[in-house]
Parts: sequence; C-alpha cells; structure tokens
Amino acid sequence: MTELSDKTIKQIQTELKTGSTSCEKLVRDYLQKIDEAKHLNAFLEVFSDEAIERAKELDKKTTEITIKGKLFGCVIAIKDNICYKQHKVSAGSKILEGFTSLYNSTVVERLLAEDAIIIGRTNCDEFAMGSSNENSAYGNVLNAQDNSRVPGGSSGGSAVVVQANLCHASLGSDTGGSIRQPAAFCGLVGLKPTYGRVSRYGLIAYASSFDQIGPFTHNIEDAALIMEVISGKDNYDSTSSSEIVPAYSFELGFDKKARIAVFPSTMNSDGLNAEVKSSLENLLNDLKSEGHSVEEVGFNLLDHLIATYYVLTTAEASSNLARFDGVHYGYRSKNADEMDPVYKRSRTEGFGKEVKNRIMLGTFVLSSGYYDAYYSRAQKVRRILTDEIRDIFKEYDFIIMPTSPTVAFKFGEKTDNPVEMYLADIYTVLANLTGIPAISLPLAEDKNGLPIGVQLLADKFQESKLLAFSEKLMQIETPK
Ligand code: GLN
Repeated sequence: MTELSDKTIKQIQTELKTGSTSCEKLVRDYLQKIDEAKHLNAFLEVFSDEAIERAKELDKKTTEITIKGKLFGCVIAIKDNICYKQHKVSAGSKILEGFTSLYNSTVVERLLAEDAIIIGRTNCDEFAMGSSNENSAYGNVLNAQDNSRVPGGSSGGSAVVVQANLCHASLGSDTGGSIRQPAAFCGLVGLKPTYGRVSRYGLIAYASSFDQIGPFTHNIEDAALIMEVISGKDNYDSTSSSEIVPAYSFELGFDKKARIAVFPSTMNSDGLNAEVKSSLENLLNDLKSEGHSVEEVGFNLLDHLIATYYVLTTAEASSNLARFDGVHYGYRSKNADEMDPVYKRSRTEGFGKEVKNRIMLGTFVLSSGYYDAYYSRAQKVRRILTDEIRDIFKEYDFIIMPTSPTVAFKFGEKTDNPVEMYLADIYTVLANLTGIPAISLPLAEDKNGLPIGVQLLADKFQESKLLAFSEKLMQIETPK
C-alpha cells in the first residue's frame, strides 16, 4: 500500500477529484496519527475541530464547478512563530504564553487562499534560537526515527510532523539553518528561499535581515508548489521582492549539464563526520559520471562564518526582542508592581537561558565601546562573503556541501558546550549571510540508517533551477 507520504499534493488532488478520498478523510486520518504520536511533542496545538470543519467546506467544492486552489486538500502545519489570526502563537517561549495573534501572516493568508488546511502549530526552539529543539519552553521534540536523538532545530516540530506523517507538509523558518538542518536530521526536503522571496510579515522576528519562511516536504514537487503559493511581493514587508514568481512546480525538468562548485574547506573541515563526507563524495562522483562538471573552488572564509553569523544575528535579536517587556505582550511577572521591576522581572522570568545569552551578547556587540570591533567588522565580513559568492555564481550553477557536519545527535550531547552546538550550523549559515537560496536533500543514510542531508545552493532568485536540479538529484540511485 502506498503511504500518503509517497504521494504528491497533485496526486492527492487527483484522488480528491475522482472521489476515492475526501478532505475530511485526510484530516481525520492525520488526527488519528497525531493522537498516536503525542510522545514526539511535535505539535504545540492541533486545530482538530477547525480542520475538520474546513475540510468539510472544501469537500463541498469538490463537486461544485468552482475553481479550486493550488493547495486544495493539502494538510499543512505551521511553526509556532508564524502568526495565524485568533490562534495562539508563542515562538516556543514562556514570554508569549497565552498570546493570541491579532492578524494573519502573509504566508497564512496565501495558504488559506489556495485551499490548504492548517492543522496545527509546531514546537520549536525559543524564538527560533537553537539547533536541536532543546531550547523550547514547551519541552524537547523527539526525532521520530530514534527517540533518543534530536530532530534538529529550530524548526524541529515542523520537521517531525512531516517525518512522522502527521500532516502532508509544513512551514518553518530559517535564519541560520533552521529548515535545512532539521530536514537533514529527519530525512526530508527543506528549502530556505532567497532573502526577500517570501514575505516575513507575521513571522516573529529573530534576526530580520536573515529570516526566511520555507517548506518541509517529502518531495521536490510539493516544495515547488508550496513555494509558488507563498512567494512574491507583499506590501506589508518592504524587504519582499517584486521579482516575478515562476510556476516552480511546472519547471522541474533539468536537462543541461550543471557546473558545480565544491569548497575543499567544507570537505576537509575538522568536525565533518566520515560517513557524511563519503556519502557526499559518492554523490559528486555520480554527478561527474553523468557528465556534470564538479570543480574545487577555494573558499577561505569557512572558519569566519559562525562568528559573523552569531555577532550579527544576536545584535538583531537584542533589538527585535526588546518589545517583549511584560507590558505589550504575553507574560507579565506577578512579582513586580512598579514599572522598571515589571520589565526586569517579566523578562527574567519569561525568557529562557539561550535567549537571554543571545540578548546579552547582541547588546554587547552593539554597545558603543565594542560596536566597531564586533558589529561593524562582522558587517564587513558579510559584504566580502556576499561579493565572493556572487562571483562564484558567475561561473557555476550550484555549490554543493553537507547540510550538517553530523547526523542527528543525541539529546544532551551538545547542551553543555554552546560553541560545539553553534558549530552544528557551520554549513548552513552561509546562505543566510549572503541571502541565497539553499535546499537540503535526503540523499543518503549512515550505517545505522540515520538520514544524511546534502545541501545545494544557488544564486539569488534561482529557486527554479535549484528545485529542478534537486528533482534530478532525488532520482539518482545513490548507494545508501
Ligand atoms: N541554529 C541556528 C541558531 O541557533 C539557526 C537558527 C535558525 O535558523 N532559526 O541561530
């Protein structure tokens, strides 16, 4: 029997059309699975009744001659930092406990306009800060394949709900790898779009010049279709691009020979697991034997990426998170009754440890005595990186590197050593620092059957090419 996860959204829509299934049946099946998988802690809230009601409404459309949306019948979950009107949103933080969104994010508007069914909001690291989902105020999310291992972060819940087939697809956000790394750890496709491709309106900001929303799916076609729906100019987000949105799901053929760049520094990096490395080497050999050109390109800035990323993102976070003051939103300390103590106590009690660390680090790098030494230097490195990457894409179609140096690690393995945890992001932050699109593909497994993600990066607004070549890579039979 084919699982729902083996089918694409378009295939499910064909079944809906012929009447062999219904939206209501799809939703009820997922709700049952969600019930059986509560221990994974992947959903913070399931919109059960509402999803059934919406499914019934949509089922009426199946028989009517009305125009159906591109995501008709697609059961989708959203990360708990994406606003959905009259629904709770907490960014995995106690400071937003009980807060209800007053408006829809643009991505939610677009999903609903295309007849998707939003089934729930997913657990994540607090304010999207983390690489293992161990920083959520609402507990760890378990990797469905091996419950002693992390699902990756920060969009761990969004990855696991798709991994465990609790819904068809999900949305996450990626500031430094939070879609791609959990996708790699859970054996999924995860795409971080070009900065500005998808509106950030209604996404709770972590680092505004890095954040992008993107999909988790089992296959490329679904990722392409969801991108078609959520991308495009939005007057509510001045950083969204008016660049035309191609019909990604119809442009998945790639019949050229690709020019691929590989950075030796990424392949010879200290922390790279031997099996991750060899699976990538195998893939590169396969690509060469299919006639694609794979060339080594010098890239000497790898060791500077993590520092640059953490200086800039914490600086932006310290500013973005200033609004959570116990007065405007969510949690207010009961142990204070004057203005200053209300701010101080609410923030002390409301934020978790990692978020506080980052606010302090960000405040420090922006302080007048240290601004030039840290923040402004990191900005210069970002500029150098962006120029270097732009030049590379003048000669190459893609860059390939691992998504993560290791497979999913065990709970607690890196929690005592923040630097080691930060190094888990070494391959993912480049795309966010330079604004380019990047995708993680589940192309290999280690000897224990744990998924290994391969990362493909392309030039700005080249999602069409990125998805088309990804489709090709997904069809290569690599020895697992
Ligand atoms: N793991 C990275 C961090 O902790 C990335 C987070 C993200 O992309 N939201 O910042």
